[in-house]
Amino acid sequence: MTAAPDSSAADNGHRFVRNGHESHVHVIPVAGDPDLGHLLVFGRPADGCLVRVHSRCFYGESLGSQDCDCGPELHKSLDFIQQEGVGVLVYLEQEGRGAGLVAKAMGYRESERTGVDSFTAYHNLGFPVDARRYEYAADSLRGLGLRRIRLLTNNPDKVQALREAGLLVHPEPIYTTPLSERASAYLESKRRRRGHWIPRGEPEQALTSAPGGTRPTRPLHRPVPGTPDPDRTAPPISFPRYHG
Ligand SMILES: [Zn+2]
Repeated sequence: MTAAPDSSAADNGHRFVRNGHESHVHVIPVAGDPDLGHLLVFGRPADGCLVRVHSRCFYGESLGSQDCDCGPELHKSLDFIQQEGVGVLVYLEQEGRGAGLVAKAMGYRESERTGVDSFTAYHNLGFPVDARRYEYAADSLRGLGLRRIRLLTNNPDKVQALREAGLLVHPEPIYTTPLSERASAYLESKRRRRGHWIPRGEPEQALTSAPGGTRPTRPLHRPVPGTPDPDRTAPPISFPRYHG
């Protein structure tokens, strides 16, 4: 009987080509448990590198659903990481904000039926509004030797959770153009209900292509006014800026 390959080994590095851009990547299970998700490690990450901690959205990422911003956020994050040639995508198996795909579908139905946003829909259905957890991601990033990261996110709760798990986190908000009225409403509910750093109205810097389309040709994000400063207890880090 042949033993299964050791999926935790780091000797699985390979070329990764996307939108004509070639990177080197290797894969590591999250905190040693592939059921939780995986890390895609681009290049040789060091403190101050870009990190995206992303939770699964089957509709938005695999099916191209226009009802949320998950696909564009994932693709834009990969754009940035590939542009720098170094960084980490932590992909977590936390569908439906951790409640699962069936809960997400029920939430959509509840929203359609009553007109409430998805957070209230989850609450009405008895699901946790956001059950996602990030300590495993933090453990995994520390396992790579990282202590300070630039986190591609609009979600202050995610920043806080990773800080509480021991990382020094500098948030790098990312803007995407809503794919539909429903996606726009979802973004607005995330801004209003969960304090996400999302500008009102049209983003200043829009994704120049649909998810999976051509590589953006200009800087795509900049700090949002009012975004918390990076952890001031951290030693100074030289952060590249993405001013247009
Ligand atoms: Zn989604």
